[in-house]
Amino acid sequence: PVRVRFCPSPTGNPHVGLVRTALFNWAFAKHHQGTLVFRIEDTDAARDSEESYTQLLDSMRWLGFDWDEGPEVGGPHAPYRQSQRMDLYKDVAQKLLDAGHAYRCYCSQDELDTRREAARAAGKPSGYDGHCRELTAAQVEEYQAQGREPIVRFRMPDETITFTDLVRGELTFTPENVPDFGLVRANGAPLYTLVNPVDDALMEITHVLRGEDLLSSTPRQIALYKALIELGVAKEIPSFGHLPYVMGEGNKKLSKRDPQSSLNLYRERGFLPEGLLNYLSLLGWSLSADQDVFSVDEMIAAFEISDVNPNPARFDLKKCEAINGDHIRLLDVKDFTERCRPWLQAPFAPWAPEAFDEAKWQAIAPHAQTRLKVLSEITDNVDFLFLPEPVEDEASWTKAMKEGSDALLRTAREKLEAADWTSAESLKEAVLAAGEAHGLKLGKAQAPVRVAVTGRTVGLPLFESLEVLGKETTLARIDAALA
Ligand code: GLU
Repeated sequence: PVRVRFCPSPTGNPHVGLVRTALFNWAFAKHHQGTLVFRIEDTDAARDSEESYTQLLDSMRWLGFDWDEGPEVGGPHAPYRQSQRMDLYKDVAQKLLDAGHAYRCYCSQDELDTRREAARAAGKPSGYDGHCRELTAAQVEEYQAQGREPIVRFRMPDETITFTDLVRGELTFTPENVPDFGLVRANGAPLYTLVNPVDDALMEITHVLRGEDLLSSTPRQIALYKALIELGVAKEIPSFGHLPYVMGEGNKKLSKRDPQSSLNLYRERGFLPEGLLNYLSLLGWSLSADQDVFSVDEMIAAFEISDVNPNPARFDLKKCEAINGDHIRLLDVKDFTERCRPWLQAPFAPWAPEAFDEAKWQAIAPHAQTRLKVLSEITDNVDFLFLPEPVEDEASWTKAMKEGSDALLRTAREKLEAADWTSAESLKEAVLAAGEAHGLKLGKAQAPVRVAVTGRTVGLPLFESLEVLGKETTLARIDAALA
């Protein structure tokens, strides 16, 4: 049975790279009717925070993910927060020491740095040089007498490590590229290098799918796994698959600190979880060459890890928005009407709460649904309905109000006054006729009307907007523009 894990550290805000990793693990688990384990890697007390932890769970729920084992749901390998599993790691570290797979290393940071520099200068590998591998009892005693606090270091076997990456194929690491590495700090705190594979082993993870940035830890983990198997802690080495880097602006790796990568930003801007997931799935994978828009269920049904492309993926915000817009179009109109609510209220809405008119909202919503890329755009698009006057937008005004606009507006007002206000078509004919009278095509004729009534040059379909706003207000705004 397939058992995968999603194991973020609760540091800072959730970012899109982390969501992509969660998504691929989730889709992989679902596709294989496997188990998704959600584990919290919070062993770094200096960087982890309870606030990030809460936010992480909230984000995962918002995105629609579920997990079979982990926080809030429990499971046979509880607890799922590493901060609550410290005794287990201590125990394994001791076993590794006892069996000789790990040793105490007394080198100080200064000594390590000096030797690393020297190795570099000599063109030799600059990883740990094995200084403390075979200390004599006398040397240990001396170091202890000096008051040195040792770290626990893993003894890498002197052998080449080869594995078949599920995304990249066969990879080989030679011993000089994988030096002995630390497992436990001098203060007793276990490191990622220990706790991550130990938990993968104890939780019986079968497939490790994670970002390419972690590829260099894989040969170490495989070596550690072999030791854990010998000690009876692990059963089998899992398969590994490394998901491609995500590149941001200027073809640089998208970093967690990049504002573009903050999940909260996408939430605030009104991305739909399904739209965002659809887009993120395309970072390294695709459903087919001619279908960019699909549901998560379609993704799950088709998802094969071997189809993931190892080449870096480019994060394209425009495409992300376009796909989100397509998902907005796919919503049931009632659902759309409800999902917009947060942006029709404080702190987003600039109008007084009592000015909001439910009937007008219901009437305009279907027209808004055809236009938006993200839900937050709704506020500016409907403010003309709820503000006492159209917003003042100097640029729009200058752009639309040209010589002759007054004359056009006067004619349009006349024709609109006589039009049938129960029909957007009739309002369109009125503006069309006004345009003809002044030698203007519809596009040119409607621009001053739009700005006079809504304050902006762009917006929702105009005649439907006028119909919802109503005859009285529309005419009054044209009068005000002419005054
Ligand atoms: N806690 C690690 C991280 O967030 C997990 C890495 C892994 O998947 O092994 O980077």
